[in-house]
Amino acid sequence: MIRYPFDIAKVEAAITALDEKWLRKARQRTARFVALGRYEETSAIWSKVKPVFMKLQHDKCIFCEQRLEGGPYGPLVWDLEHFRPKSNVAAWPNATRHPDIAYNDLGAGSETGYFWLAYDLRNYAASCKVCNTIFKLNWFPVGKARATAATIDLSTEDAMLCYPLGDLDEDPEDLLNFVLTTAVPKHQAGDHNLRGRVIIDFFGLNKRDHIHRARAQMIGSVGTLLLERDQSGSSPQILTRLGEPHIPHAACVRAFIRLWDDDRQTALKGYEACRAYGFDPTAAPPRL
Ligand SMILES: [Zn+2]
Repeated sequence: MIRYPFDIAKVEAAITALDEKWLRKARQRTARFVALGRYEETSAIWSKVKPVFMKLQHDKCIFCEQRLEGGPYGPLVWDLEHFRPKSNVAAWPNATRHPDIAYNDLGAGSETGYFWLAYDLRNYAASCKVCNTIFKLNWFPVGKARATAATIDLSTEDAMLCYPLGDLDEDPEDLLNFVLTTAVPKHQAGDHNLRGRVIIDFFGLNKRDHIHRARAQMIGSVGTLLLERDQSGSSPQILTRLGEPHIPHAACVRAFIRLWDDDRQTALKGYEACRAYGFDPTAAPPRL
C-alpha cells in the first residue's frame, strides 16, 4: 500500500468531463441522506466515477497494489470502494474471519454507517474485487467511538485502516513494511504497530498466494536490474523508475531496494529465493 497524490480540483474536473451533472447529483443525494439520517436510494451513480480513481491509482488496487486491467475494459474487474461503509457497518473483529487472531473489540457495529459519505470523493478508492468483496465488505475497525454524523471529526475515531489517497491519513509506508514478499508492521510496538497488524490481517496481505507470487516476480526483476547495475557500474535507465507509484507492489519493491542498499548479502539471498519461488508452484513464500 502506498500513498498517491490527490488533488480534489483535478478529480472533480475529471469527473465533470465524464458526466457534467455528476457532482450536482452527488450533492443532492448527500443532502437527502443527511435529512433522512441514513443511506437510501434505488439506483446508485458512484460507479460512473470509477475510471477516475483507477487512473489516479495507475490501475493498481488501492489496498493490495496488484495491477488490473485499465482503460475502457477495466471497470469490469474493479470495484469503486467506499472507504468508510455507506450503510450498515459490522462489528470487528469477526470471529469467523479472524479466528486465529486475538484483537480486542475494534468498533461496535452501526446500522446506519457513514451515510453522509456515500458520495464523498474523499471516501472513494478503486480496489480489486477480492480486497473489497471478500476482505473489506462492511467492516471498518476503529480504536475509539465510531462517528455517527457528518458533524463529527472523523480523526477522533482512530481508524485502523489507512486511506492512501492524499494526505488526509498517515502515509501507509509509515505503517507497513515488507520483508521480501511478506508485509510486516513498520513499528515494533504501540498504536502504529497495532494499526499495521490490523491492515495486514484485515486484507489478508500475507495470505494470498497470488499476491506473494506477484511480489516475488517484481523482486526477481528488480534484483536482476540491481545486479546488472552493480556489475556494470552503470545504472540501467529503468532503475530510476522502479520506486515510482505506477510500479505494481511498489511498497514491496521499495523495501527490497532499501534492503539491497543496506545489506547486499541478505538481499542477494532473498533475490535468489524469490526467483526460485516464482518457478515452483508448491513452494511457500520466501523468507530471510
Ligand atoms: Zn486488492
